[in-house]
Amino acid sequence: MDRDKLLALDRRHLWHPFTQMADWVREDQLIIERGEGNYLIDIEGKRYFDGVSSLWVNLFGHKRREIDEAVASQLSRIAHSTFLGLSHPPAIELAEKLVSILPGDLTRVFYSDNGSTAMEIAIKMAYQFWRQKGGGDGGKRTRFLTLTGAYHGDTIGSVSAGGIDLFHSIFSPLLFETIKMPAPYCYRCPYGMEREECGMHCATKIAERLAAEGDEVGALIMEPIVQGAAGMIVHPDGFLNAMREATRETGALLIVDEVATGFGRTGKMFAVCHEQVEPDIIALAKGLTGGYLPLAATVTTESVYEAFLGKYEDFKTFFHGHSYTANPAGCAAAIATLDIFGAGDVLSHVEGVAKSLRERIGDIVSWKNVGEVRQKGLMVGIELVADKKSKKPFDPALKLGQRVVRETRKRGVILRPLGDVIVLMPPLSTSREEVDLLCDATFSAAHDVLGGL
Ligand code: PMP
Repeated sequence: MDRDKLLALDRRHLWHPFTQMADWVREDQLIIERGEGNYLIDIEGKRYFDGVSSLWVNLFGHKRREIDEAVASQLSRIAHSTFLGLSHPPAIELAEKLVSILPGDLTRVFYSDNGSTAMEIAIKMAYQFWRQKGGGDGGKRTRFLTLTGAYHGDTIGSVSAGGIDLFHSIFSPLLFETIKMPAPYCYRCPYGMEREECGMHCATKIAERLAAEGDEVGALIMEPIVQGAAGMIVHPDGFLNAMREATRETGALLIVDEVATGFGRTGKMFAVCHEQVEPDIIALAKGLTGGYLPLAATVTTESVYEAFLGKYEDFKTFFHGHSYTANPAGCAAAIATLDIFGAGDVLSHVEGVAKSLRERIGDIVSWKNVGEVRQKGLMVGIELVADKKSKKPFDPALKLGQRVVRETRKRGVILRPLGDVIVLMPPLSTSREEVDLLCDATFSAAHDVLGGL
């Protein structure tokens, strides 16, 4: 089918996620047909650098031989069989590999198929754990402490734990209530303080609140080190550690959402490794399969797991599961992905690429409409503002972020912004030369759009 016909059918029948369809049907759209390494190729053969790793999932490029072969080999055996009451080799092998690289006592792997469900499971698991745990605080801890700016996915439980009003406020009557505390966003400090002299006031406030709520709080839920969807907000050093300390002191679990930060994206295998933090529950998705197939995992400790054991008729079972839980082809892709990490020094390559990125983005921090540039590893957010001094945002009607990424496309790079934050999140396999391609295209696009205001 040719491009025009496909586009007409897309406009007639499709509804794209996080997309204002009234705009979509009016604008020209790209139809991606193939991928090759770090590039996406459209139906007319035009190549684009995949500057946001296909929405933060791709690690080692497209059509990566080892992953292709692993999936093909799995397909030659079976594409899918249920995980409810049956098991299969790739899920078992993957669990062992995951446990061997995860920090602390995370030893029990519960599979699902995307980041939202991985977090939904983490929330339900923590809740049921406390309902079933014996002893003093068993049964009491029914509440969650969550952070502003958090994003944990789009299912109702994940949205309840989220804190991005633009996405979440319309659903508020459907959500369960959490104790919401301000997250560190040092560029616009919620307490009006300065980074150098605040003594991490936000962490103190959270610790105080946790202590005040006593044994009511079952878990603190957070994205460690970087809050992605909030605009690549990088937390100050020590914040994660302070959260671990505070939860340990008050007995609450620590649930970390590493859906975006996991698998080398921040420069360490997992973001919690930056501060040697050992969570009680971790959610993984996106990069788990190298960006190939929908697979997710919620991994917890034996002590959480054991609260679910009992006689059949006691019904302590975790009643949760999906049709495609632990899809074998996804598990095969994930094993191949972890083998790539095992075979070479991926993280030192990432360190080099991150350094090149840091040097290049240094070029734009002084621009008059660049409020702040934030980076952790290969996660970069460039916040554009109307007024640098007052940090006043642009009028959303200007659709500035959208306009910039439309321009980068003309320069052979695909990006997707978060409002007026331009996100750069290239695959881990990006070369130094591709950092230049990515930065040249982004800066010249931003320059043209800002210059035309
Ligand atoms: N948690 C975080 C931190 C995320 O960034 C995302 C997706 N961007 C999700 C959860 C949801 O993942 P998914 O889109 O796979 O449901």
